[in-house]
Amino acid sequence: MNQKWPTGSRNQEDLKNLAGNPDLISGIYNYCDRWCQRCPFTSRCMVFAMEEQQFDNPTAHDLNSEAFWQTISDSLQATLEMLQEMAEEQGIDLDLLDVEADMEEQRRLEEETRNHACARAAEAYAETVDAWFDSVKDLFVEKEDELNLRVRVNILGDDPHEEAASIEDAVEVIRWYQHQIHVKLFRALHGALEERPAILEDFPKDSDGSAKVALSAMDCSIAAWGELYRHFPMAEDDILDILVHLDRLRRATEQEFPDARAFVRPGFDEVEL
Ligand code: SF4
Repeated sequence: MNQKWPTGSRNQEDLKNLAGNPDLISGIYNYCDRWCQRCPFTSRCMVFAMEEQQFDNPTAHDLNSEAFWQTISDSLQATLEMLQEMAEEQGIDLDLLDVEADMEEQRRLEEETRNHACARAAEAYAETVDAWFDSVKDLFVEKEDELNLRVRVNILGDDPHEEAASIEDAVEVIRWYQHQIHVKLFRALHGALEERPAILEDFPKDSDGSAKVALSAMDCSIAAWGELYRHFPMAEDDILDILVHLDRLRRATEQEFPDARAFVRPGFDEVEL
């Protein structure tokens, strides 16, 4: 598996200092869902550490501040230096440029990826989620009223707070992964097309790692829809349709990437919490 470096650091020295920290798990950020708030590995992730560093300096996020543009400039410089080093290590000549051929090939790969049945199904899913939430605004208001009433009535054994938390969590999960499923699948499919002639058998494939992240996002989303199904029986037909669509996508992805589930993500699949 190739090491991919996160971008966004102030300079290459920062990157190297962080990379030398033995507590960090190398490359863990390459196959995560970027939900840092819920991640058990924040203390072992270089991306999280770098973002913390930047948030320590509020002016680094103000477009009008010199610090913001200095951060961009430093990040660009550090990334270019890193790219140069990696290219040299791998024998890639960055001066060798065939723009037209490269762009044409990229266009072809993107077109092929976009038209893949899994990519189209994932995109359709993301749109369906928006449409569903738009169509059930009243249902959520009714549910809120119902839960508030149950809090006031306070029936022994009834726990409206637990139900509210469960709904809130399910919605957060669905919204978090709604577009990520498509993004990760697109990356997996696109990567698989590029890897085809180049990757050795038995070598972990980046495309499998991305597909695993997409599959994990689908698993979490399916579970979350199951929760909503439980709490909104009046919407069960629509939710069932969405669940069927997502489950078919999950199965199709497993067929397309039969080794994805076995891909070992740094940290997540190898460290006992
Ligand atoms: S590994 Fe965890 S902390 Fe690091 S970027 Fe991913 S979600 Fe955030």
